[in-house]
Amino acid sequence: MMRWQTLDGPFCAICGIALVRDMTTKTLWQGWWSPISLILAAPFTLVSNWIAYHKLSQLQPAAPVFPGQRQLIPGKPVLHRPMAYVALIPLIWATVVITRLIISGA
Ligand SMILES: [Zn+2]
Repeated sequence: MMRWQTLDGPFCAICGIALVRDMTTKTLWQGWWSPISLILAAPFTLVSNWIAYHKLSQLQPAAPVFPGQRQLIPGKPVLHRPMAYVALIPLIWATVVITRLIISGA
């Protein structure tokens, strides 16, 4: 039905942005498929991820902490990832339903 996934840091700016981008993309294509998710969970998660992204983007890029440890690759921005646009399907559906409710109620 619904699954929450959190990642506890601390993360450097590069690794954190990589994780936020991946998690946000997953939310955009997997996070809408129940009524509670559509109305509450996914929007809350997206705002939360946006706040995390904003905080991470303020940090200076850090060198790896341990020798041999590598940073994650940030990857493409979320809106450059095709899977992010799966979120348009439930958003269009919700818009149509709400519009019909408003029209039929008028
Ligand atoms: Zn890192």
